Amino acid sequence: MQIIRDIAMLRRAVSALKQGGKSVALVPTMGALHEGHLSLVRMGKRVADHVVVSLFVNPTQFGPNEDFAAYPRDEARDAALLAQEGVALLWAPEVATMYPAGHSTHIEVAELGADYCGAARPGHFDGVATVVSKLFNQVRADVAIFGEKDWQQLAIIRRMARDLDFAIDILGAPIARDADGLALSSRNAYLSEEQRAAAVALPNALKAAAKAIGSGADVAEALARAEADIVAGGFDGVDYVALADADSLERLGLFRKPARLLAAARIGKTRLIDNLAVD
Ligand code: AMP
Repeated sequence: MQIIRDIAMLRRAVSALKQGGKSVALVPTMGALHEGHLSLVRMGKRVADHVVVSLFVNPTQFGPNEDFAAYPRDEARDAALLAQEGVALLWAPEVATMYPAGHSTHIEVAELGADYCGAARPGHFDGVATVVSKLFNQVRADVAIFGEKDWQQLAIIRRMARDLDFAIDILGAPIARDADGLALSSRNAYLSEEQRAAAVALPNALKAAAKAIGSGADVAEALARAEADIVAGGFDGVDYVALADADSLERLGLFRKPARLLAAARIGKTRLIDNLAVD
């Protein structure tokens, strides 16, 4: 697996991979890789001839009081895992390569980015959309794969690719979960043993709410119960639990398909997100 940090070298390497009409899948990550990331890589291998993974902890998607400096970083471990999966190329630029002095353009997907995590983390999705559009232009892959774990992010990237006519297919990959149901996340590493045990309250509350809403329960009541269950389970606060149109992310007061339950909650200093389809 090649590890590349220079844009000109990246372009040459991707052109070489594409020779003979071969296709390339891009999997953007911030590293601290787990089985969730690796499931995206495996999907990439199924749908394209070569997989390129990007590893970039993007400063512009972190707020001033968020965990940019503390975000777990271990490139050697990540690279070894990706090499084992047969990844062709790891694109791991420095911050100065991604954002040279004077960088002043950003992308805002206004409608989809305002609510939920966008409300709790101002500027977060502008940082995501901007860096992902740069990754698309840098790598020029045929397809990019994102996890359903970050449902709002996936919706935003799909909309951005459509609005800006990016010549790339966007694929969503199912959420990889631990045995007890907690969605895998690089931020789970921040949890103490006690917090990790309590964190299962988040997927459990969503499961119960999805079942209730799918069986005709009142939406507001089901959401209020989920919120109470998350706090009773040991979380310190709930940013939101909402029923949303799965595509437009419009909040739904009455159940109609396709719908998705979206949630974010804080346990200690760690903020966890999760989501679930309602059938
Ligand atoms: P991150 O490194 O957290 O920015 O995540 C990189 C990509 O991996 C994003 O598309 C995430 O949605 C995806 N991802 C993270 N955790 C999971 C998971 N548990 N299951 C599926 N995809 C995931």
